[in-house]
Amino acid sequence: MSRKMNFFAGPSVLPVEVLQEMRDQIVDYHGGGLSIIEASHRGGTFEDMYRECLDLLRSLMGIPENYHIFFLGGGATLQFAMIPFNFLRKGTVADYIKSGTWANKATSDAKKIGDVHLYYDGTAQNFTSLPDPESVHPSANSSYLYLCTNETIGGIEWQTFPDTKDVPLIADMSSDLLSRPVPVERFGMIYGGVQKNLGPAGATLIILRKDMLERQNPNLPAYLDYSLHAKEDGLYNTPPVFSIWGVKLVLEWIKKNGGAEGMAKRATVKSSIIYDTIDQSEGFYRSSVDKRFRSKMNICFRLASEELEERFLAETKKAGMLGLKGHRSVGGLRASVYNALPVEDVQALADLMKEFQRTNG
Ligand SMILES: *Cc1c(COP(=O)(O)O)cnc(C)c1O
Repeated sequence: MSRKMNFFAGPSVLPVEVLQEMRDQIVDYHGGGLSIIEASHRGGTFEDMYRECLDLLRSLMGIPENYHIFFLGGGATLQFAMIPFNFLRKGTVADYIKSGTWANKATSDAKKIGDVHLYYDGTAQNFTSLPDPESVHPSANSSYLYLCTNETIGGIEWQTFPDTKDVPLIADMSSDLLSRPVPVERFGMIYGGVQKNLGPAGATLIILRKDMLERQNPNLPAYLDYSLHAKEDGLYNTPPVFSIWGVKLVLEWIKKNGGAEGMAKRATVKSSIIYDTIDQSEGFYRSSVDKRFRSKMNICFRLASEELEERFLAETKKAGMLGLKGHRSVGGLRASVYNALPVEDVQALADLMKEFQRTNG
């Protein structure tokens, strides 16, 4: 077996043990005579696995009992609309922190639904920095304050979070879910597509404080109504079963590898290997992100010219490394080093970067 080194931003690398377990169980799930993706979502086979998955999430993320946990379809993208539909009340505003591409998409959907106050707009600095979390206070008539904990395309990540007191804090955590311990009790809602850090694409994880449902707008269509999903424990309609199964297996892998603390250590080690290489390159590699907010998941960097970047990419491909091209909207290079990516792969990339600099510097 020869697997490539996978630096894709999403869908992205999964632990090889998880893929092997899926292969082994896909036809005959634990001797039950059928696959879990052929079983009813109202039956024991699926529901037992589902409960285990939710229990694992609760313990690994330290999610208090007063939070619902469920999975929806439609990607993180559907949440850009669902959040304002549910929580942006008439006569109030929602505070948005425009930190990059993903928060921007959420902002533009919210504007179609209600009044948005752009609390912070990083456009002028080209989304290379964030506000100081201590300085963030929501507007007086705010329904919620929205932020994206890790901007996957810009490579910028909140290290600590604002304390918004009585105003619910809502966060898109798609690309740093379970990469570190997070004070869940600070948030009214946390959500994220699972395909970056937690499993195969298809499910969006929703973590919702129960009292949020008392603040909802009335008369929402069924699928768009969080309270219906909460009431039915995420089984109002068919959940994304394959994806949830993958998440459950990834969670077991995370647990075996030290939980959220273990993932945080891995992320620090891996991202430091690359950032140190950039910082010690005397400008050969450049990162424009404010050092205080450097992402430990998506490391964006540039070379002196696009031509040099093309040559660099060609070298990485030759070495069996995939996914290092930056997002098409920003160009440059990006190494995504999610939970499951082995440290050795990151070290191999750093070695290649040094060698490339030696021969092209
Ligand atoms: C990938 C990503 C999204 C979009 O997720 P989909 O599941 O494709 O809708 C949203 N937010 C962030 C931070 C992301 O990384």
